[in-house]
Amino acid sequence: MPRSTQVHKFGGASLATAEAMAHAVSIVLAHRPGPIVVVVSALAGVTDALLDIATKGLRGGATALRRKHSALARALFTGASRKKLISRVDETFAELKVPRKMTPAATDSLLARGEQMSARLFAAALEQAGCPVEYVSAADLIITDDTFGHASADLARTERAVRKTLGRLLARGVVAVVPGFIGATPDGQITTLGRGGSDLTATLLARALGAREVSLWKDVPGVLTADPRVVPDAHVVPQLHAREAAELAYYGAKVLHPRALIPLGKRNIAVRIRPFANPASTGTEISQRSTLLASPVKAISAIPGLALLTVTGNGMLGVPGIAARTFAAVQHAGVSVSLISQASSEHSICFTVPSGSAERARKSLRETFRGEIARQ
Ligand code: ADP
Ligand code: ASP
Ligand code: MG
Repeated sequence: MPRSTQVHKFGGASLATAEAMAHAVSIVLAHRPGPIVVVVSALAGVTDALLDIATKGLRGGATALRRKHSALARALFTGASRKKLISRVDETFAELKVPRKMTPAATDSLLARGEQMSARLFAAALEQAGCPVEYVSAADLIITDDTFGHASADLARTERAVRKTLGRLLARGVVAVVPGFIGATPDGQITTLGRGGSDLTATLLARALGAREVSLWKDVPGVLTADPRVVPDAHVVPQLHAREAAELAYYGAKVLHPRALIPLGKRNIAVRIRPFANPASTGTEISQRSTLLASPVKAISAIPGLALLTVTGNGMLGVPGIAARTFAAVQHAGVSVSLISQASSEHSICFTVPSGSAERARKSLRETFRGEIARQ
């Protein structure tokens, strides 16, 4: 696989209008003729709308989605390709018959339509611009477990599938356009990689292809020192070590999917967060280099909607196994812990869980320590 391969991922905000789509196409063309894989998200707002349809069964939602995509197709294409794309839009969003109780698997198949449609539109736009291009189904590339809604890729299987499917295309100079966010189980059931998962699709493909660089084109000038919606005068961090970026993503910086850097490990594949509005800018480089900036603290992130649980009592001092039982109880409740602290006196253990799961975790803890609580 040629080391010169580049992966370019365009987020929803970068595809919202016909002008934006044309701009994204011009970015891809500017990086030719080297081997290029393009990953696209659903158009802005589409995944949220599909999720509303899945969870609330919102009638009329499908019509709005059909209109949004048809309008884009009409603005971008003429003649036969316009006709073909509009009928594909109609098929994709025609009647989204939602059963009363959606299974996680059915929800993923529904959500996948956003990326499938935007990738079709993007591939057609590249073709119209005279670029050799092929739409490649994500189900043929990203092989995952069956944790619907939050699937994890099987790296070895994904690597084999990607090399087999994309290798020959890229060697022929064809640009591959792949829907982000989506994978499939080995038996072909559609899964999704969690919200924001297109970043992860891009890094999974880059790993499998041994790519040189992954560009994530975003509506911000790069990774900023804080979320610009909270801190308007946040500024760009020019370079981050992969570990630093991974921590920021894990701890809530929405700019990067929390698991996006995992596939790259210590591989020498640079990830760039780049401003869609200004392709000449270098944005933020995420790589294996450590640089010291003026401040050792490079950025601040925040996760909303967490609850802090505290297990405390005098009887905990020097007693082996309290921590193990505490976290076994939380695991038993199926709750994931994001941060842990234990005071040096061993009188208390604090940890955070999503607020929505806090009561479940608390019940399980009270059950586990029922004897100790009764004995005070
Ligand atoms: P995409 O759909 O292209 O993946 P996202 O909306 O997921 O884009 O991520 C970009 C958004 O992340 C920005 O618009 C910004 O509001 C938010 N964000 C949160 N924290 C940061 C940060 N530290 N730096 C940059 N953007 C951030
Ligand atoms: N469209 C999906 C989402 O909104 C995936 C992505 O944008 O990366 O979460
Ligand atoms: Mg995102």
